[in-house]
Amino acid sequence: MLHSAAARTTPAGTPVEVTETDHATIACDGGSEPLGHPLVYLNLLPAGAVDCPYCGRHFVFTGDPSAGHGH
Ligand SMILES: [Zn+2]
Repeated sequence: MLHSAAARTTPAGTPVEVTETDHATIACDGGSEPLGHPLVYLNLLPAGAVDCPYCGRHFVFTGDPSAGHGH
């Protein structure tokens, strides 16, 4: 199975927007998408990254996973 980490694209062939965050959970509602989509919450851990099932935006966790405990 071929898989390239670079030049990610959506099925439509448009570049995937990559969002870096230090939050373990993010909320996506389509943001700049023309029509947006229902607000969904996505967990970036433990995988460290997640794709929004609606708009395909790629979120990358850049924080410290061990910092999620306590405050
Ligand atoms: Zn989205």
